[in-house]
Amino acid sequence: MSRPIVATINQQALRHNLAVVRQAAPHSRVWSVVKANAYGHGIARSWQGLAETDGFALLNLEEAILLREQGWKKPILLLEGFFQSEELALLDRYRLTTSIHSNWQIQALAKAQLSAPLDIYVKINSGMNRLGFRPEQLHAVWKKLRSLENVDEMTLMAHFADAEKADGLIEPLQRIERAAEGLDTPRSLSNSAATLWHPEAHFDWVRPGIVLYGASPSGQWRDIASTGLKPVMTLASEIIGVQQLSAGDGVGYGYRYHASGEQRIGIVACGYADGYPRHAPTGTPISVDGVITRTLGAVSMDMLMVDLTPCPQAGIGSQVELWGEQVKIDDVAHAAGTVGYELMCALAPRVPVEII
Ligand SMILES: *Cc1c(COP(=O)(O)O)cnc(C)c1O
Repeated sequence: MSRPIVATINQQALRHNLAVVRQAAPHSRVWSVVKANAYGHGIARSWQGLAETDGFALLNLEEAILLREQGWKKPILLLEGFFQSEELALLDRYRLTTSIHSNWQIQALAKAQLSAPLDIYVKINSGMNRLGFRPEQLHAVWKKLRSLENVDEMTLMAHFADAEKADGLIEPLQRIERAAEGLDTPRSLSNSAATLWHPEAHFDWVRPGIVLYGASPSGQWRDIASTGLKPVMTLASEIIGVQQLSAGDGVGYGYRYHASGEQRIGIVACGYADGYPRHAPTGTPISVDGVITRTLGAVSMDMLMVDLTPCPQAGIGSQVELWGEQVKIDDVAHAAGTVGYELMCALAPRVPVEII
């Protein structure tokens, strides 16, 4: 028998979450963000669950080419554009839309020999100071790009640093709109948080990522609990050992947990080498045979320990959900001091994946 850990990807939940996005932004087209191997879900096995989308947005040329080779004909957006001018030949061949965020990219685009012009997304720095042209540069950049034979449709793109806050878009939107004054351009500004909570920023194309996978852009499940979004990934395993503790007994590396009395604990076949966060402390939620309980002590490479007090009938072979429908990935992430994004992206290659 093989090690009992498995990750399940629910294609129906992807479809459902895309429909939730469409309801939230009914007047916008949707770039479904599938960067980082579809947030760890596996782009090759996940994209068909999102096939109703208007386009896919990602970073890696390899992932873009994979989508084309698997038959995706609609738009693909490279969120960070090309990294070297030589890549423009592939953008041309596979008809990829590229973000333009730096002057060297404009020069490369001007010089390239393309079979047909490319659609571009001109990225403006909304104040986050990551990628993008400064607002006062926008008009000059726009004019230059508009004059290039290699450029077809142009869209204004920006990204928000603080879209999960109610007032997080006021300043950035003002900055963007001031910069774009007089430009007749479509806009794509909204990540998941802005898609859910800031209709004033929806415009022509929204760019949700995390909500498609059923986790919260704020890192807190309660913030999306009423949206109907469904977790897409379930990480499940089984109990492979049981120990009976007495008062004072220690558990795991560093004896980070001590029993205060008689206690049964289960040993789960899942550890940080599977992508479970090593920093998850005692008390992180986990379910055993459908009952929510808690982890105990330090997470080790291949195993972790759980309290069986709330589920005395559980034993070897009992089903464990690390995250999924019952145990929200946001709640595990929160306990471990991180966000659902990081946990899903970190699912380890050694974990077998099933599609349902
Ligand atoms: C990752 C990313 C998104 C999606 O962000 P979510 O918070 O996952 O919705 C959108 N736009 C850009 C430029 C990104 O890098």
